[in-house]
This record gives sequence, C-alpha cells and structure tokens, in this order.
Amino acid sequence: MKQRKVYLDNSSTTAVAPEVIKEMRTYFRDIYGNPSSFHFFGRQAKTAIDNSRAKVAELLNASPEEILFTGCGTESDNIAIFGLLNAYGKKGHIITTRIEHHAVLYSCKHLEKIGYEVTYLGVDKDGVVSVEDFRKAVKEDTVFVSIMHANNEVGAIQPIEIIANELKKINETRKSKIYFHTDAVQTAGKLRLDVKKLGVDMLAMSAHKFNGPKGIGVLYVKKGVKISPITFGGHHENGLRPGTENTASIVGCAKALEISNAAIENNEKHILCLKEKLKKGILEVIPEATANGSGARAVSNILNISFNYIEGEALLLMLDMKGIAVSTGSACASGSSEPSHVLSSMRVDPVAAQGAIRFSFGRYNTEEDVEYVLKVLPKIVSDLRSMSPVWNQKR
Ligand SMILES: *Cc1c(COP(=O)(O)O)cnc(C)c1O
Repeated sequence: MKQRKVYLDNSSTTAVAPEVIKEMRTYFRDIYGNPSSFHFFGRQAKTAIDNSRAKVAELLNASPEEILFTGCGTESDNIAIFGLLNAYGKKGHIITTRIEHHAVLYSCKHLEKIGYEVTYLGVDKDGVVSVEDFRKAVKEDTVFVSIMHANNEVGAIQPIEIIANELKKINETRKSKIYFHTDAVQTAGKLRLDVKKLGVDMLAMSAHKFNGPKGIGVLYVKKGVKISPITFGGHHENGLRPGTENTASIVGCAKALEISNAAIENNEKHILCLKEKLKKGILEVIPEATANGSGARAVSNILNISFNYIEGEALLLMLDMKGIAVSTGSACASGSSEPSHVLSSMRVDPVAAQGAIRFSFGRYNTEEDVEYVLKVLPKIVSDLRSMSPVWNQKR
C-alpha cells in the first residue's frame, strides 16, 4: 500500500497553486523576451511585469513605484537593511529583536562586526516584543528598526502598527528620522497587509510562502525613503536590484498573492479548524506536551508543541518515516541541535525546547491529514520516551 504523505511544513515552503503554474507557463515558452529589449518579445514581457507590479502594489495599498521584485525574502531583508544604511552613509544604532529570521538576525550580527551598535529586543513568554522596551531602546543615534510581522517558529504577531505609531511620535522630535522595516514573510497572503495602516517604511515578502514560486521576493519601499543598491549592474528595478527580471516568477508571485488574498478568510477558517483539532488531539492524549506561544495573537497556520523528554530531531525523523513532514524550529536551524533561539528568548524550559516540533498548515491540508497524525504520533512519542532514562526514572 502506498504510504500516506502529509505535509505540515508550510512555513518552510508551500506547493505552488495550480492557478499560479497555469499563469506562469506562458512566460517560459511564449513570452520569453528580455523585458529590457525594445522589440515585441521584450515589450510583452515588460507589460507582464508592469501589470504584476501594479497588482502587488494594489494588494498592499502601495503604488507600483514602491514595489521592488527581488530574488527571495532573504534578499528583500538584505536590500532593506544594507540598502538603507548605505544610503544613510553614517554608522549608528539599530534596533531589532532576538526572534528574527536569520535573514535579519545574521545581517545585524554582520552590522555589529562592521561597527554598528545593535539592540536585540527580548520577547515575553508568548513570543511578543514589548512596545515599552522598544521605546526605551531608542537612542540619539538610532537609524533603523527591523521587527518581523509574525514569527516563523511560533507564529506570534508583533505589534507593528503600535510601534510604527510610537516611532512617528519619536521622529517628530528628532532631526534625523528613524526608519522602520518589517519582515512580513510569514504574514503575506495570510493577513491582509496594508502598508499605510502598518505604518512601515519597508516590508519584505516571499512568494514561496504563499503558494507562489520559489526564488522571488518583494520589497516595499515607501516613496521618499532612500536606499542604495547593494549589488551593481543594470538599471533593472530602478537600479536597486540589477539583473534580468524573472518574468515568469514575477507573474507567479502577483497571481499567488492575488489568490491568497482573495481566500484569506476561507483559508484562515479552514486552517484554524485543522490546527485546533490537532492541538486538542495532542494535548488530550499525550502527557507532558505543551503548546509554545499560544497565548498571544498568532498567525493561524503555526502550531509549535514541545514534547518533554524527547529530542525534536528524533521525533521529526520518526514522523518522516510515517510520511509526515514537520520541522523543528526553523528549517535553517535544523541540522544543529542547539535549542531554537526563538524558544530560548521566550524562556521555554530547555528540556521542552529540545523537544519542540512545528506543525505548519497550508490551504491544501485536510482533516484526514490531522487524523492520520493523531493516529501515529502518540505511539511514536511513547516509543521515543521509553528510550529516555530521564522519562523512565520519572515513571
Ligand atoms: C522563509 C523566511 C524568510 C526567507 O525567505 P526566502 O524567500 O526563503 O529567502 C525570511 N523571513 C521569514 C520570517 C521567513 O519565514
């Protein structure tokens, strides 16, 4: 019998929606011109990019000139951070959080090496930064703030609007403005993003997290915010992201955002239902299992659960043998057995942090998926625990 496959790792990446594939196909075989070429083939490609840019802009309540297509979410974050600081030209102080994705965290670590000062804000037990801590962190020479919209390991949504408002007030009293970037890779296509309402200067997204293709990111840069290129070449994307545009992926990105946005409420309802069923099923049946970051407002698709006295990695492998795909912490952190930097920041007990698993849902998951997990998981957990001396001693 063919083994059932259940994909519960949608925060790492998602399947490309059939509607998106359909839309993209034309741009490999038919409309393959270089968008910079003046001939018919090029003009057709250019029109497709212009239309996609307009679509993404509209969905974010931005203008087309404010939308930059990049190579991925990581690149969007890097252009935001280094592009802004390069344009600013002076060294200064940066504020970010301890729970950022490595795209931001490691960028900030690099900034420290080259002479910037960085404050890493902590979070509460639910994974949320405090507005008060943010206010206290602002210094005379603060230049830049980068705080993610929702965390990729526990889903906690950060108070971006409130912080943007605070920053607006702070900026009114200063000569040099402090700029605000948010990594919205985990919320794009899941929450209705409105850059004006959020009040940010820059916002990063990545299509493969909302059923679009891999290798295409978006960076919103508010009109009037100056950034310098960090790579050099042609005039593409206003000279800020040189290199021949990836027409098919740009079209796919816009289409994916469009269909995700149109289905936000339905998807959310469906996914929340599945998540609650899985959470309830696990917590009722498996002892010493706790949900991480469940107390605060969080995106509906992430369920992070700690199974005490088990290694998350071992659990992941056992689930994989049963055809179930999950993750421990973030995909980038797996392979190392360091406890997740996010769970440590939330002061999750180290024993619990070691045994944490992230189940992340997507629009194609079904109730049968959850039932299958609930069928096999309890036995895997008890088998693994039976090999743990600490667990056996407790019994
Ligand atoms: C996945 C992810 C990224 C990186 O996006 P890529 O397109 O894979 O480079 C950045 N930030 C967050 C929060 C993510 O979840």
